[in-house]
Amino acid sequence: MRAEVIAIGDELTTGQRLDTNSQWLSQRLTEMGIPVAFHTTIGDEIDDNVAAFRAAIARAEVVVVTGGLGPTADDLTREALAAATNSKLVRDEPSLKHIRQLFESRGYEMPSRNVVQADFPEGSKPIPNPHGTAPGIEMHIPRSEPNPCLLFALPGVPAEMFEMWEASVAPRIARLQPEPRVIRHRRIKCFGVGESQLEAMLPDLFRRDREPRVGITVSDATITLRITAGGKDEASCFSAMEPTVSTIRELLGTLVYGEEDDELEDVVQRALHQQGLSIAVAEWATEGLVGKWLERASRDTEVFLKGNVVDCVSAIPSLTHSPEPHSVDVAIALAEGIRQATSADIGLGIAAYPPGEHDAESHVCLALAMPDQTRKLRLRCASHPSILRTRTAKQAINALRLALISES
Ligand code: ATP
Ligand code: MG
Repeated sequence: MRAEVIAIGDELTTGQRLDTNSQWLSQRLTEMGIPVAFHTTIGDEIDDNVAAFRAAIARAEVVVVTGGLGPTADDLTREALAAATNSKLVRDEPSLKHIRQLFESRGYEMPSRNVVQADFPEGSKPIPNPHGTAPGIEMHIPRSEPNPCLLFALPGVPAEMFEMWEASVAPRIARLQPEPRVIRHRRIKCFGVGESQLEAMLPDLFRRDREPRVGITVSDATITLRITAGGKDEASCFSAMEPTVSTIRELLGTLVYGEEDDELEDVVQRALHQQGLSIAVAEWATEGLVGKWLERASRDTEVFLKGNVVDCVSAIPSLTHSPEPHSVDVAIALAEGIRQATSADIGLGIAAYPPGEHDAESHVCLALAMPDQTRKLRLRCASHPSILRTRTAKQAINALRLALISES
């Protein structure tokens, strides 16, 4: 069984509003063990609506539509659904009564235009909408396929749609399944190599027919491995994923830094906290980004960030004599200088970017002044200019993470 989600509205196709309904519905369907094969977004145009409905009905057992149930001339879902299924629109008196009462309870008379919201394609059922005027539509549509298509049309207003999904649609869809089934995900977060390099380190894990399935996405150099398993309940999904997680951790070692919503700075913050260490940062190239992230990660736990300096030249007196702000000597002076100035356990210094174009050959220097030694490192600057600073900051935090692992 597979599903399709359709979102309707000019505000979506013109880019004025993001289609969050489809995202939400797809998450719910997936959790119930029903994969979503298509997302379709259409404007308020009758022929396009009819064509999209016909295509969806032909290819999915479950279709969930949002939007276009309002009373105005651009709300076409009822009409399009009737046309797509060759049925007439018929008025449902109980729905009309509900709409009228809703207006009265708010102290208004029902505008005549709202009557159309009580029209339904013949053979369909209204889905109650306790807090809105637009009832939803549930329709059982026979097809040439062995299984019929079950289609649900819900209002576009997210709050009404959520409520109707929970109360009416989800229980109805659950009854389609011979036995309860759920789908769960786990995300493993990695940093330190490119995605194709990482893929090569995990041969066979990305096969499309593999169970559980593993997918890979990259965002600003952070790689997320997404593991997906289906089963009769949440526990069986998670235990089916366990061997895959172990294999990934074994093959990738310290390239794996965390899971789910972990960012590198969260992991570093936890390690510093566990080891009872404080840190101070002097950032020339990254202009305070590392400090900002560490501060955010610290939340309410004890203050471990003793300082974050961006104006490095005034903060570290020994720098005034340095001719090359991007040199390794500057990184060391920054790390040791900030450590001394703040009495932090660890000083992290990031020198300036080298002048000119940043390519595979250019590097930014970094130093970590630890209690017993100062480590230095050169980080490659090859990346798109828009993410260069973010990437360097992540690389610096990752260097800190690896140093903390080797210390412990
Ligand atoms: P109603 O019957 O309550 O008038 P409708 O079905 O006609 O609802 P629209 O008029 O298309 O829905 O949209 C109502 C509101 O819901 C608007 O604010 C719209 O931006 C929002 N909305 C509609 N579709 C979506 C969507 N797919 N994702 C997020 N918001 C949406
Ligand atoms: Mg609309």
